[in-house]
Amino acid sequence: MVNSRTPLIAGNWKMNGLLGDGRARAEDLAKRMQGAANPGFEMLLCPPATLIAGTAAAIEGSGLLLGGQDCHFNSGGAHTGDISAAMLADFGCSHVIVGHSERRADHGEGDDLVRAKATAAIEAGLIAIICAGETEAQRDAGKTNDVVAAQVRGSVPDGADGSQMVIAYEPVWAIGTGRTPTEAEVQDVHAMIRATLAEVTNDATAQSCRILYGGSVKPDNAAGLLALADVDGGLVGGASLAAADFWAIAAAIG
Ligand code: PEP
Repeated sequence: MVNSRTPLIAGNWKMNGLLGDGRARAEDLAKRMQGAANPGFEMLLCPPATLIAGTAAAIEGSGLLLGGQDCHFNSGGAHTGDISAAMLADFGCSHVIVGHSERRADHGEGDDLVRAKATAAIEAGLIAIICAGETEAQRDAGKTNDVVAAQVRGSVPDGADGSQMVIAYEPVWAIGTGRTPTEAEVQDVHAMIRATLAEVTNDATAQSCRILYGGSVKPDNAAGLLALADVDGGLVGGASLAAADFWAIAAAIG
């Protein structure tokens, strides 16, 4: 199906990289982006907070986008170690990931908090990338759709539209494991997410909102996953740490 959603390929560098390698990777991707006449996709880099400034300098003028991996739900104040959405925007970020399963697991983040963070991101002018996904036990129990729909319902801010948020479907069991659902399973979950968005927002938002797939996306499986009707790009972890692999994933968009 032809749609007007521009594919988004987002790289989540997680807690990886020091100044030198982060900058080298960003410069490599910036050169590739500048050399691509009509890439047909948006490419977003989400480095750890310590590398945001260096990455911003390395990609300036390239057309690459910059994002954070998390933000606080408050705009400022006594929150030691946290970063606000406005601080990310101040560095030139356009996006921020919220509700990644590693934050849900490592920091006990639930849907209410994820929704508050997404709201803060949107208020600061950022696009919130809201993550949802089932664990392996939930998948085995046949609860994938229930779990993911509940996370989407609980995490999407009231009134958010498709220009203010992106949903990332990331099965927890597929992250960093080399395993993925079948293409048919991915398409089914994405279609279910779009239907859920139509319920909690409206049809226009559901049709315009990009839904990314994440979980062991690699150059060799990207073409099939990214061609699915309701897959509007990818959220890539491990393979985003090698510029050539990350670029190959984006280039797989037909
Ligand atoms: C992620 O953590 O967002 C992710 C998708 O990781 P990986 O690509 O390594 O599975």
